[in-house]
Amino acid sequence: MVQTIITTAGSGEGKMSILPSRTEMQRAYLQSDATYDGVFFLGVQTTGVFCRPSCGARKPQPKNVDFFATAREAVFAGYRPCKRCKPMAAAGEPPTWVRQLLSHVDGSPDQRISDASIRKLGIDPHRARRYFQKNYGMTFQVYCRGRRLGSALAQIRKGEKLDTVTLGHGYESHSGFRDAFARTFGTPPGKAQNTDCIVVTWIESPIGPLIAGAMETHLVLLEFTERRMLEAQFVTLQKVFKCPIVPGDNGVLRQVREELSRYFAGELKRFTVPLEYPGSEFQKRVWDGLLKIPYGKTISYEELADRIKAPHAQRAVGHANGLNRIAIVIPCHRVVNKGGKLGGYGGGLWRKQRLLELEQGETTLQIPDR
Ligand SMILES: [Zn+2]
Repeated sequence: MVQTIITTAGSGEGKMSILPSRTEMQRAYLQSDATYDGVFFLGVQTTGVFCRPSCGARKPQPKNVDFFATAREAVFAGYRPCKRCKPMAAAGEPPTWVRQLLSHVDGSPDQRISDASIRKLGIDPHRARRYFQKNYGMTFQVYCRGRRLGSALAQIRKGEKLDTVTLGHGYESHSGFRDAFARTFGTPPGKAQNTDCIVVTWIESPIGPLIAGAMETHLVLLEFTERRMLEAQFVTLQKVFKCPIVPGDNGVLRQVREELSRYFAGELKRFTVPLEYPGSEFQKRVWDGLLKIPYGKTISYEELADRIKAPHAQRAVGHANGLNRIAIVIPCHRVVNKGGKLGGYGGGLWRKQRLLELEQGETTLQIPDR
């Protein structure tokens, strides 16, 4: 199943990039081998910076490194260019005017930069677009979007509350942030990239904002944002699907947004949005088992273990339950402890309580106005 997706993703115009082996890349960056400059880039998870292999900065430990074929992928994974090795200039030192533009963005990565303000720097916006497209595989505006989103996502991944992130980005309210997010990231950069990336967006819910991720045809992520595991989930997603995570919107995300809105209004009892949830054989059995628990019902971990023909494996079942990447739609909240206690929930026990109350008709949750 995963294979199918990857094959499909690789067949589009935005082809999968081919990287040297991890061992080779590790050797290259640990030895600052400049012959690999432009072949790959490394993102340093602990600093949020991405570098050329030849960078003279202190070498990160291999376990903290993500590898990318292009600067674009690194930017959209939330990394900012290293000030020391200037990876955006991998194809050679860029002209002064480009350096001026890049430093302008770095000086205020959270600001929108209009064509007018580019002209104020004495630079023709069309020329900027052409240069970025040719040398970096993205337009200048797309680069700026990536930097803004990367900056927001990086904070959220660190566990910052949405309020903090919102204020930090100069927006007045959640809805202001959401609107700006939609305006800025509404269109995935370049339609060729639609097929080989996970598009992520925000979805407001009465019990807090969710981050949703979808490929062209399937939902692959739905998580409450302050969940600490989000960063790990992103890393896992990138590993499983071998593609970058890019802000935007698509048909699948529109469908899940609409279905969630009806779910929270108490009107929808069965989600129909297509799902993709690769995992181990055992995890798939658990998640498939979850999908069979009817709306409004709860079962115990023991019962679920029995149903998937893994009697006495309730601990393993509980663990797989906790690794569910598609909250609500794969209803892990419907599994509770034997004595009727709630058990655990990655998104917070109060949310599990509210979801169960909603499904038992005790309350109707209104989605905040869009
Ligand atoms: Zn560097």
